[in-house]
Formats: sequence, structure tokens, C-alpha cells
Amino acid sequence: MPINVLFAAKSERWESYEAPLRAAFAALGLDVNLSIEMPADQVDYIIYAPNSTVQDFTPFTRAKAVLNLWAGVENVVGNETLKIPLARMVDPGLTKGMTEWVAGHVMRHHLGMDLDILNRGAWAPRTPPLAQERSVVILGLGALGCAAAQTLLGLGFQVSGWSRSPKQIEGVTCHAGEKGLSDALSKAEIAVLLLPDTPATTDLMNAQRLALMPRGAFIINPGRGPLIDDAALLESLDAGHIAHATLDVFRTEPLPEGDPYWAHPRVTVTPHIAAETRAITAAEVIAENIRRGEAGEELLHLVDRDLGY
Ligand code: NAP
Repeated sequence: MPINVLFAAKSERWESYEAPLRAAFAALGLDVNLSIEMPADQVDYIIYAPNSTVQDFTPFTRAKAVLNLWAGVENVVGNETLKIPLARMVDPGLTKGMTEWVAGHVMRHHLGMDLDILNRGAWAPRTPPLAQERSVVILGLGALGCAAAQTLLGLGFQVSGWSRSPKQIEGVTCHAGEKGLSDALSKAEIAVLLLPDTPATTDLMNAQRLALMPRGAFIINPGRGPLIDDAALLESLDAGHIAHATLDVFRTEPLPEGDPYWAHPRVTVTPHIAAETRAITAAEVIAENIRRGEAGEELLHLVDRDLGY
């Protein structure tokens, strides 16, 4: 009997995912009937994007798991019709994309590249510090935060991180808990937010925590918009306390026309492009999870529904 797998994502995704998924299933010897349409009560696994038309999981009476195509699960984790395991996406391709994006934006601020653009026509030599003299803090030490930490360590930065549970990562000063956050932020010349959007992380970067960061610090947010109290950040930017914010994610996306972030001279807006799931590597992760499900093994990257990530 083939395994019935429904691809429940926007149709344009199907074009890029169909062939890699079929190849990944074949590589693992899985006999899969993969389709964008099949009777709900026949579906064994759902490959899922939270913006798909599937919002009610009740009819999927025999489905064994929902395999999310995205790393962030905030738009599905609270779905009360979802009673089966939910796996989020940890994709080597997405991780590489994120580390490259983070490294690029950290280097921009570290080297003061904007000054070279602003000073066009003026011969104004300056010597940026070495990375080893710069403290970068990563909030969130999961799949993406850890990978970014390794890349920044490789570039020579002093790297600290903060997570919910205490961690030990060679070369990284690891913090946890409220005091750990204060300690981390007080040294954060550059802070990179790689936390999920959960009730516990909403407005994490509020006025009080922004004020803990050294004057002239930079914030880079490729995590999720609600991690930042926007009014507090704008106030801190206007006061010159935070020197610049590079924001890839927002409470409302696309960022509405007229939003103060668009025109702010100390804000860089990127349109949620820090890291995209890459079809070939993501398909391998999905196939492996279906293999595990069929073998009765625990799925990879299961979401804790109570914690919300
Ligand atoms: P992950 O592996 O689940 O890691 C999440 C990290 O956040 C973990 O270290 C976790 O701590 C920490 N954390 C969660 N809640 C916390 C809290 N209340 N206090 C302190 N630490 C907390 O997630 P990931 O794969 O690295 O992805 C991180 C986020 O990046 C995603 O949720 C998504 O929102 C975002 N993202 C954005 C893009 C983009 O293009 N902009 C692309 C992909 C992902 P523990 O280690 O203790 O559990």
C-alpha cells in the first residue's frame, strides 16, 4: 500500500517541490502517492504551509503527522483542530541561507560600511575594530541561532547567546533566564534575534531591555516581528541609543505603506527574505520524517505545543 502524502501549500510551491520530494522518497525506498489533492480521510501525512487552504484538520482522520515547510510554526501551533504531531522545518539549506544573511548584516554594522556610503567624496580614513573586539549576542540558540553563532565565531567575534534552557556551546558564552538576558544584553554591541514567536517572547525587546544594550548598539531581527516592541524601538532609535535596526520580519507583512520603519534613517527593512526553505534539502528532511513515522521511530524536530515552538 503506498503512503498517501498531501502537499498542502500554495500551488506555486508545488512546482519547485514536486520533483525534489519524489526524488527524496525514491532515495529512501518509500512508496509514496504524493498529490496536491486527495480525499482527506485517505491522507497519511500532510506536508504543510500555514498559509495553505487547509485550516481544519478534523477531516484528516488517519493522518499521522503534519510536516511544516517553514521553521516558524506560530500560525499553526495554536490550531485546536490539530491533534497529531507537528514537525517544524529544520532544513540545512534554510540554515545556510540564514547564517549568510546574519553574517552579512553583522559585518555591515561591524565594519561601519554605511559610513563609506555616506562619506562618498570625502577621504576620511578610519580603522574599524577587529571582530575579536566586538561582542555579538544571539537571542535564541536553536537550529538557526547555533549555526549563526558558529559562523560568527569563525569570523572571530566574541559571541554570546541566550536561550530558554541552559546550554553549553564551545566558544559561546551561554545565558538563560531573566538575569542571563540582562547580562547578555548589557554587552550586546550587536544583537541578533533568532527566537520563535510565542506568548513568552512577545515584546521581549521592550524599552527596558533596549535600554540595557550599550549606546550605539545595533539590532538585527530575522526572527519574528512580535519579538520587538515597535514603539519602544522607534523611540530608542530616535534617541540615538540604538544606532540602527535591520529588520526582516514585522508584525504585519508585507510592512504596510506609511509604516514609520520604511522611512526611518536608522532602519533597514528587508522583506522577510533572510532565509527560505530550500526545496531539495527540505524534501530530504520530509522524506526522512515519513520514513521514521512508518518505522515507528520518533519524528525529527517535533514542536512542543505547550511551549509554542
Ligand atoms: P528553534 O530551533 O526552535 O530555536 C529556538 C530558540 O529560541 C531555542 O534556543 C529556544 O530555547 C529559544 N527560545 C524559545 N523561547 C524562548 C524563551 N521564552 N526564552 C528564551 N529562549 C527561548 O528555532 P530555529 O529553527 O532556530 O528558528 C528560530 C526562528 O527563526 C523561527 O521560529 C522563525 O520564527 C525564525 N525564522 C525566520 C526566517 C526568516 O526568513 N526571517 C526563516 C526561518 C526561521 P531552547 O533551546 O532552550 O529551547
